[in-house]
Amino acid sequence: MPQYKHSVSLTEDKCNGCTNCLKRCPTEAIRIRNGHAVIKTERCIDCGECIRRCPYNAKKATYDPLESIQEYRWKIALPAPALFGQFDHLNDLDYVLNGLIEFGFDDVFEVARGAELVSEYTRLYLRNKASGDLVISSACPAVTRLISVRFPSLCKNLLPILPPVELAARVARKEAKRKNPELRDEDIGVFFISPCPAKVSYVKNPIGVQKSAVDKVLSISDIYFKLISIMSKIKNPWPLSSTGLIGIGWAGTGGEASALFNDKYLAADGIENVIQVLDAIENGNISGLEFVELNACNGGCVGGTMNVENPYISKARLQNLKRFLPVSMNHVPLNIGGEQNKEIPKETMWETGVEYSPVLQLDDDTIQAMRKMGEIQKLTKSFPNLDCGSCGAPSCRALAEDIVRGEADEDSCMMKWKEKMQSLREGKNSNDG
Ligand code: SF4
Ligand code: SF4
Repeated sequence: MPQYKHSVSLTEDKCNGCTNCLKRCPTEAIRIRNGHAVIKTERCIDCGECIRRCPYNAKKATYDPLESIQEYRWKIALPAPALFGQFDHLNDLDYVLNGLIEFGFDDVFEVARGAELVSEYTRLYLRNKASGDLVISSACPAVTRLISVRFPSLCKNLLPILPPVELAARVARKEAKRKNPELRDEDIGVFFISPCPAKVSYVKNPIGVQKSAVDKVLSISDIYFKLISIMSKIKNPWPLSSTGLIGIGWAGTGGEASALFNDKYLAADGIENVIQVLDAIENGNISGLEFVELNACNGGCVGGTMNVENPYISKARLQNLKRFLPVSMNHVPLNIGGEQNKEIPKETMWETGVEYSPVLQLDDDTIQAMRKMGEIQKLTKSFPNLDCGSCGAPSCRALAEDIVRGEADEDSCMMKWKEKMQSLREGKNSNDG
């Protein structure tokens, strides 16, 4: 299995081991060791929650520098819909798109265009699926990875259609070659302007395809200040935008689901809510739904840690911007026979499925795994159940698991250690007596 390449990491000398991030990690991937945080990389889903929680900026997202656009002859910008929510008083998407051209890109292709196509394909997919099957959106890579490590039984429910950024990258590359036949593949650089580290990780570890058509990922926060200054000088922007309100709506929670024109949906955001919804689905406690949209960040992609603006302010701005847009500008081509005969092209479906990633599994052998589970339960009961974090694990149960895995010992628990010292002292005193 190829090694997973992460986009979230720790700057060790900024970390003072305060434990703020420890308890918020959805996969219990963080431990405090020797006074600073350590990420258990095999568990990390690059959701960015620890970046949001760290008051000392010790956690960071890694992405490509703006200068990397110079590496290609023909540079295409793929702005995420969330980018448009960063600017105050924006009433025309073309200011941002023209700003990107002025910045140095040769072409722009809105990810929102890919989103509108994915909305159409999803409608077709829901129409053709077996009745009763629940479909879970695969657009948020942090959620998809969370499902693959923590909810294996739900892998089969993931929507097997390429995410908007992938579809946009493929179409943009194809269009560039059609318009400029002299370009070789390696001349073209496709740059996604991303709101979150999970999407950086997606490009390095694509889901459902072998290789992403995106070459580099830039951060919205990096390009924002350059764009602000460039945009202030643009008087009459060229008409470049080709998206409607459906595509832009994908930036916030509910945008993807409401574009399906089907009431039987649930849309949730924030990693803790996402986990609760997935738990409920796994336990069979949710019925009557056809589609579930889940976003790891609060508010959806506008809440990603690589944005500059508050998610709810961004969402309100996009709401205003949508008033100037048509419903949708990107459609699945009609086949002979009209609307009812529309089909999902094979090249927009996943090439490979998402598989269970057994990083939380205790042992390959079921008997051994059950024995270890028993040990964990016994040890957990012996701890004070305070979940104080002073042992460096997020909970007493997590410490018990670390001990059973051979990664910690019982003395890590301060209370246990004190009890041990106390009984040693008492033993010594009674021997002295
Ligand atoms: S990015 Fe998310 S999964 Fe990874 S360590 Fe941080 S909080 Fe945990
Ligand atoms: S929140 Fe986590 S990474 Fe930040 S200083 Fe505290 S322990 Fe270190």
